[in-house]
Amino acid sequence: MTNVPEIFGSMVFNDAVMQERLPKDTYRSLHKTIEDGKELDITVANEVATAMKDWAVEKGATHFTHWFQPMTGRTAEKHDSFISPQLDGRALMEFSGKELIKGEPDASSFPSGGLRATFEARGYTAWDPTSYAFVKDGVLCIPTAFCSYGGEALDKKTPLLRSMEEINTQAMRILKLFGNKDVKHVWTTVGAEQEYFLVDRKLYDRRRDLIFCGRTLFGAPAPKGQEMDDHYFGAIKPRISAFMKELNEELWKLGVYARTEHNEAAPAQHELAPIYTTTNLATDQNQVTMEIMKNVARKHGMVCLLHEKPFEGVNGSGKHNNWSISTDTGMNLLEPGKSPYENAQFLLFLAAMIKGIDEYQEMMRVCVASAGNDHRLGGAEAPPAIVSVFIGDDLAEVLDCIEEGKSYAGSGSGRMEIGVSVLPSIPKDSTDRNRTSPFAFTGNKFEYRSVGSSQSIAGANTVINTIMAEELKQFADELEKADSKNFTQALNDLIKRTITEHKRILFNGDGYSGVWEEEAKRRGLANLKTTVDALPAFLMEKNIKLFTSHNIYTEKEMRSRYAILLDSYNKIINIEAHTMIDMARKEILPAVSRYIGQLTSVLNDKLSAAERLGIDMPRSMEEETAGTLSALSDEAVTKTVLLETLIAKTDFMDDLARGQYYRDSVIPAMNELRKVCDTMEKLTARDMWPFPQYGDMLFNI
Ligand code: ADP
Ligand code: MG
Repeated sequence: MTNVPEIFGSMVFNDAVMQERLPKDTYRSLHKTIEDGKELDITVANEVATAMKDWAVEKGATHFTHWFQPMTGRTAEKHDSFISPQLDGRALMEFSGKELIKGEPDASSFPSGGLRATFEARGYTAWDPTSYAFVKDGVLCIPTAFCSYGGEALDKKTPLLRSMEEINTQAMRILKLFGNKDVKHVWTTVGAEQEYFLVDRKLYDRRRDLIFCGRTLFGAPAPKGQEMDDHYFGAIKPRISAFMKELNEELWKLGVYARTEHNEAAPAQHELAPIYTTTNLATDQNQVTMEIMKNVARKHGMVCLLHEKPFEGVNGSGKHNNWSISTDTGMNLLEPGKSPYENAQFLLFLAAMIKGIDEYQEMMRVCVASAGNDHRLGGAEAPPAIVSVFIGDDLAEVLDCIEEGKSYAGSGSGRMEIGVSVLPSIPKDSTDRNRTSPFAFTGNKFEYRSVGSSQSIAGANTVINTIMAEELKQFADELEKADSKNFTQALNDLIKRTITEHKRILFNGDGYSGVWEEEAKRRGLANLKTTVDALPAFLMEKNIKLFTSHNIYTEKEMRSRYAILLDSYNKIINIEAHTMIDMARKEILPAVSRYIGQLTSVLNDKLSAAERLGIDMPRSMEEETAGTLSALSDEAVTKTVLLETLIAKTDFMDDLARGQYYRDSVIPAMNELRKVCDTMEKLTARDMWPFPQYGDMLFNI
């Protein structure tokens, strides 16, 4: 039996360890740094570094690394050993405060989107003391931010930390208006549910599309898919269960609050949900979770697929980003309260969110844009590409009443006057579950469901935090002007006006239906189906203004993100197209040709036998199948050649033109090629098909 309390966080240099190992004064200064964002004194840093190193060495560490999150969305590490040579030929294990605080990885190959020319000085990493250091694989990992010497953020963490600061500042202004004196800090919290697929390693190794692209580019549907709903929440098979057990243990050791695990809708699909924590920790932990998932799967003879759409015809994978905002006194600001006063405060935060999502829909869309996620958001599954907010019927009724100045008949609680001084009592936990909504209020938090399974959650949360900070700022500006006597009136007016102006973003119906697409268009909501459509959001004036005014991104940083995402989209489609051509030419077409040869040889035998016997032979299976396959393989060659021609044309295009061209010409050509090949797969003998099929991969564990 695993002793969970004993192993939990055993590999983390957390607060308990710091208290135990640091001199009192040092601990206090460090805490001050963490709370106020003050710079750390070098003597303090030296003491922390030594304590950290001693602890890490006891945990088996020989190296340390500044662990950071470049704009690739992955995590990066470069290991340095603690070894310090001595004059007498021996070595000591040393680690200084300087090494703890700042690092200089030779990281010139990370994308910077033009922020840093390769000939310039390299970026540096800076310790983020708000996230705990941990030991992974014999390496002390120190969470860091990654910046250029010009101060530009080269990573996903810096803007996230900036956005958390900003929302704290603005939310504190609001709380003050409500007379709240105890609260010292406001944090956003996140619980990121992670979906993933597991496939057998031996099968994976035989599929070049999985190896190069993380998703299948070919594959006829298996006779069975997810239509029976027998996988969702089904009993977990022993091999998966063993994987999950080890995964949980590894994550617990690293202080990740892995809590819920279950089978997901698609066969071979699973989910892990952690207990929520502050947004920057949740982001670090999600990165760790993805990495550990992959490692543990390998140990169990499987491969963990984090791609958003590994298999056609069954659900893809996402990451449900549960977001809320709470105070250091433990108050969740998205929790409807018991008193009119708490409710008023809740309604203000709710209104701010609704307004923010409406005004910055394009930003919400672009922060989850990627070639992989296009298969979910643009396709007919998961949340649609149109951003909308679900608040449930009860809350919708409350908002309607506020808008119309009517009284609200709460469920059972009698009628509540929505007058000047009393806001309605809000029903708690009455939110319906609407699985099709991209951004759903689920009782005391918002669940953003559009994040892709392989993406870092940093981008989405940076956007949500910033949008919220902006709206809270506007609200605070307005309400601070009202004198205290008129505060309630001003608040009522503000909420009412906000709802009236932004209710078009509210949608409680079926987000998958074609009717919604029409309706959303009438409402003037954005419908940015692909990454290429969404990317210009980074360059929209209102968005640049939003991020620069809150010092989250500079304009240059936004342009760099636009450039990096576009470049990455183009590269992904290019790799996928080349992989398809490679598989079609070197595997599928030769296999089909061999099968046709086999059929033809049987057919010839049959024909000569019939001739010898002087009988008329009816059209045989061999003739029929060989004929069809022959025609299809001719078609497949034509489609392959077409794809080759198309991608050759992109050589001299600029990035945007190239992206548009991939979207409009190359992807449709890839789909065409796949269609023919999948039809051939259905007609070819199983043992002659060159790589494992959907039925094997989805149902063999
Ligand atoms: P589902 O949405 O699949 O029903 P759960 O309710 O089990 O899933 O999970 C919801 C997720 O929301 C969990 O990761 C949980 O920790 C997280 N969560 C709960 N409360 C908050 C909060 N206040 N802030 C952020 N995340 C939260
Ligand atoms: Mg969920």
